[in-house]
Amino acid sequence: MNLRERTEGLRKIRDEVLALKDSPLYEYRTTNHYFPVIGEGSHSAELMFIGEAPGRTEALTGRPFVGPAGRVLEELLESVGMTRTEVYIANILKDRPPENRDPLPEEIKVYAPFLDRQIEIIQPKIIATLGRYSLGYIMRKFDLELYLQPISYLHGKSFPAQASYGDIVVVCLYHPAVAVYNSGMKETLKKDFQIVKELRARDGS
Ligand code: URA
Repeated sequence: MNLRERTEGLRKIRDEVLALKDSPLYEYRTTNHYFPVIGEGSHSAELMFIGEAPGRTEALTGRPFVGPAGRVLEELLESVGMTRTEVYIANILKDRPPENRDPLPEEIKVYAPFLDRQIEIIQPKIIATLGRYSLGYIMRKFDLELYLQPISYLHGKSFPAQASYGDIVVVCLYHPAVAVYNSGMKETLKKDFQIVKELRARDGS
Protein backbone atom coordinates (compact mmCIF):
# COMPACT_ATOMS: atom_id res chain seq x y z
CA MET A 1 0.00 0.00 0.00
CA ASN A 2 1.46 3.36 -0.97
CA LEU A 3 1.27 6.43 1.23
CA ARG A 4 -1.67 7.92 -0.65
CA GLU A 5 -3.70 4.72 -0.22
CA ARG A 6 -2.84 4.62 3.46
CA THR A 7 -3.96 8.20 3.95
CA GLU A 8 -7.17 7.51 2.05
CA GLY A 9 -7.86 4.40 4.15
CA LEU A 10 -7.34 6.34 7.37
CA ARG A 11 -9.56 9.16 6.14
CA LYS A 12 -12.30 6.64 5.40
CA ILE A 13 -12.03 5.35 8.98
CA ARG A 14 -12.35 8.92 10.27
CA ASP A 15 -15.46 9.53 8.15
CA GLU A 16 -17.05 6.27 9.31
CA VAL A 17 -16.39 7.00 12.98
CA LEU A 18 -17.74 10.54 12.57
CA ALA A 19 -21.00 9.05 11.27
CA LEU A 20 -21.16 6.25 13.85
CA LYS A 21 -24.62 6.97 15.21
CA ASP A 22 -24.99 3.42 16.53
CA SER A 23 -22.13 3.86 18.96
CA PRO A 24 -23.07 3.91 22.67
CA LEU A 25 -20.83 7.01 22.94
CA TYR A 26 -22.21 8.96 19.97
CA GLU A 27 -24.76 10.97 21.92
CA TYR A 28 -22.26 11.82 24.64
CA ARG A 29 -19.89 13.04 21.91
CA THR A 30 -22.42 15.27 20.21
CA THR A 31 -24.06 16.75 23.32
CA ASN A 32 -20.62 17.75 24.62
CA HIS A 33 -19.44 19.02 21.23
CA TYR A 34 -16.59 16.55 21.37
CA PHE A 35 -14.66 15.17 18.43
CA PRO A 36 -13.85 11.53 17.84
CA VAL A 37 -10.14 10.83 18.19
CA ILE A 38 -8.94 8.55 15.42
CA GLY A 39 -5.16 8.63 15.59
CA GLU A 40 -2.19 10.74 14.67
CA GLY A 41 1.34 10.42 13.36
CA SER A 42 3.21 8.90 10.46
CA HIS A 43 1.04 6.80 8.15
CA SER A 44 4.01 4.55 7.51
CA ALA A 45 5.22 4.35 11.11
CA GLU A 46 7.27 1.34 12.14
CA LEU A 47 6.11 1.86 15.69
CA MET A 48 2.51 2.25 16.81
CA PHE A 49 1.34 3.11 20.31
CA ILE A 50 -2.13 2.04 21.36
CA GLY A 51 -3.87 3.65 24.31
CA GLU A 52 -7.26 3.15 25.83
CA ALA A 53 -9.67 5.98 25.04
CA PRO A 54 -9.62 9.74 24.58
CA GLY A 55 -9.79 11.90 27.68
CA ARG A 56 -11.42 15.33 27.82
CA THR A 57 -8.57 17.30 26.22
CA GLU A 58 -8.36 14.73 23.45
CA ALA A 59 -12.11 14.82 22.81
CA LEU A 60 -12.05 18.63 22.70
CA THR A 61 -9.24 18.68 20.16
CA GLY A 62 -9.73 15.43 18.24
CA ARG A 63 -6.09 14.49 18.90
CA PRO A 64 -4.76 11.51 20.92
CA PHE A 65 -2.62 11.97 24.01
CA VAL A 66 -2.58 15.77 24.20
CA GLY A 67 -3.59 16.08 27.90
CA PRO A 68 -1.54 15.28 31.00
CA ALA A 69 -0.92 11.65 29.94
CA GLY A 70 0.14 12.95 26.53
CA ARG A 71 2.77 15.18 28.09
CA VAL A 72 4.19 12.14 29.86
CA LEU A 73 4.14 10.17 26.60
CA GLU A 74 6.02 12.95 24.83
CA GLU A 75 8.61 13.04 27.60
CA LEU A 76 9.04 9.28 27.33
CA LEU A 77 9.45 9.49 23.56
CA GLU A 78 11.98 12.25 23.99
CA SER A 79 13.90 10.13 26.51
CA VAL A 80 14.62 7.63 23.71
CA GLY A 81 15.22 10.25 21.04
CA MET A 82 11.86 10.01 19.29
CA THR A 83 9.12 12.46 18.45
CA ARG A 84 5.41 11.84 18.04
CA THR A 85 5.54 12.69 14.32
CA GLU A 86 7.60 9.59 13.50
CA VAL A 87 5.31 7.12 15.31
CA TYR A 88 1.57 6.53 15.08
CA ILE A 89 -0.62 6.98 18.16
CA ALA A 90 -4.14 5.60 18.43
CA ASN A 91 -6.61 4.27 20.98
CA ILE A 92 -8.99 1.35 21.17
CA LEU A 93 -12.01 3.59 21.75
CA LYS A 94 -12.36 6.53 19.41
CA ASP A 95 -14.80 8.46 21.59
CA ARG A 96 -14.45 9.60 25.19
CA PRO A 97 -16.32 7.54 27.79
CA PRO A 98 -18.17 9.66 30.39
CA GLU A 99 -15.95 10.75 33.29
CA ASN A 100 -13.04 8.79 31.81
CA ARG A 101 -14.49 5.55 33.10
CA ASP A 102 -13.03 2.26 31.91
CA PRO A 103 -14.13 1.10 28.46
CA LEU A 104 -17.09 -1.29 28.45
CA PRO A 105 -16.89 -4.55 26.51
CA GLU A 106 -19.65 -3.38 24.14
CA GLU A 107 -17.72 -0.18 23.44
CA ILE A 108 -14.55 -2.12 22.69
CA LYS A 109 -16.61 -4.29 20.34
CA VAL A 110 -17.83 -1.23 18.43
CA TYR A 111 -14.49 0.56 18.12
CA ALA A 112 -11.85 -2.19 17.95
CA PRO A 113 -12.57 -3.03 14.28
CA PHE A 114 -11.43 0.51 13.41
CA LEU A 115 -8.20 -0.05 15.31
CA ASP A 116 -7.75 -3.36 13.48
CA ARG A 117 -8.07 -1.52 10.18
CA GLN A 118 -5.58 1.14 11.29
CA ILE A 119 -3.06 -1.59 12.06
CA GLU A 120 -3.65 -3.21 8.65
CA ILE A 121 -3.14 0.12 6.89
CA ILE A 122 -0.09 1.33 8.80
CA GLN A 123 1.48 -2.11 9.16
CA PRO A 124 3.71 -1.29 12.13
CA LYS A 125 6.51 -3.71 12.98
CA ILE A 126 6.31 -2.81 16.66
CA ILE A 127 3.05 -2.36 18.52
CA ALA A 128 3.42 -0.83 21.98
CA THR A 129 0.39 -1.23 24.22
CA LEU A 130 -0.31 1.49 26.78
CA GLY A 131 -2.25 0.20 29.76
CA ARG A 132 -4.16 -2.95 30.55
CA TYR A 133 -7.06 -2.58 28.12
CA SER A 134 -4.79 -2.12 25.17
CA LEU A 135 -2.60 -4.95 26.46
CA GLY A 136 -5.55 -7.34 26.75
CA TYR A 137 -6.97 -6.48 23.37
CA ILE A 138 -3.69 -6.68 21.43
CA MET A 139 -2.43 -9.84 23.15
CA ARG A 140 -5.69 -11.61 22.30
CA LYS A 141 -5.76 -10.24 18.77
CA PHE A 142 -2.28 -11.61 18.02
CA ASP A 143 -2.80 -15.00 19.69
CA LEU A 144 -0.67 -14.14 22.69
CA GLU A 145 -3.47 -14.80 25.18
CA LEU A 146 -1.45 -17.61 26.70
CA TYR A 147 1.05 -15.06 27.98
CA LEU A 148 -1.51 -12.69 29.47
CA GLN A 149 -0.63 -11.71 33.02
CA PRO A 150 -1.23 -8.59 35.10
CA ILE A 151 0.44 -5.53 33.63
CA SER A 152 2.56 -5.23 36.78
CA TYR A 153 4.25 -8.40 35.55
CA LEU A 154 4.20 -7.84 31.79
CA HIS A 155 5.35 -4.22 31.60
CA GLY A 156 8.68 -3.91 29.81
CA LYS A 157 8.32 -7.32 28.17
CA SER A 158 7.99 -7.97 24.45
CA PHE A 159 6.54 -10.82 22.41
CA PRO A 160 7.09 -11.76 18.78
CA ALA A 161 3.81 -12.22 16.93
CA GLN A 162 2.43 -12.70 13.48
CA ALA A 163 0.35 -10.02 11.78
CA SER A 164 -1.40 -10.55 8.43
CA TYR A 165 1.37 -8.48 6.80
CA GLY A 166 4.38 -10.09 8.51
CA ASP A 167 6.32 -10.48 11.74
CA ILE A 168 5.71 -7.97 14.49
CA VAL A 169 6.72 -7.45 18.10
CA VAL A 170 4.24 -6.50 20.81
CA VAL A 171 5.70 -4.43 23.65
CA CYS A 172 3.76 -4.12 26.91
CA LEU A 173 3.92 -0.76 28.66
CA TYR A 174 2.12 0.90 31.54
CA HIS A 175 -0.31 3.66 30.60
CA PRO A 176 1.49 7.04 30.81
CA ALA A 177 -1.35 8.33 33.04
CA VAL A 178 0.08 6.25 35.90
CA ALA A 179 3.11 8.54 35.90
CA VAL A 180 1.26 11.86 35.91
CA TYR A 181 1.55 12.20 39.69
CA ASN A 182 4.05 9.44 40.37
CA SER A 183 7.70 10.04 39.51
CA GLY A 184 8.62 6.46 40.50
CA MET A 185 6.29 5.16 37.81
CA LYS A 186 7.77 7.60 35.33
CA GLU A 187 11.20 6.10 35.97
CA THR A 188 9.75 2.61 35.44
CA LEU A 189 8.16 3.75 32.18
CA LYS A 190 11.42 5.37 31.06
CA LYS A 191 13.25 2.13 31.71
CA ASP A 192 10.60 0.16 29.82
CA PHE A 193 10.85 2.59 26.90
CA GLN A 194 14.45 1.50 26.42
CA ILE A 195 13.16 -1.77 25.03
CA VAL A 196 11.25 0.15 22.37
CA LYS A 197 14.47 1.91 21.47
CA GLU A 198 16.39 -1.36 21.29
CA LEU A 199 13.75 -3.02 19.14
CA ARG A 200 13.76 -0.10 16.73
CA ALA A 201 17.56 -0.19 16.50
CA ARG A 202 17.42 -3.94 15.83
CA ASP A 203 14.89 -3.30 13.13
CA GLY A 204 17.21 -0.79 11.51
CA SER A 205 14.55 1.89 11.59
N1 URA B 1 -5.48 8.21 27.54
C1 URA B 1 -5.58 7.36 26.49
O1 URA B 1 -5.63 6.16 26.65
N2 URA B 1 -5.63 7.90 25.28
C2 URA B 1 -5.55 9.20 25.04
O2 URA B 1 -5.59 9.58 23.88
C3 URA B 1 -5.44 10.05 26.15
C4 URA B 1 -5.40 9.55 27.39
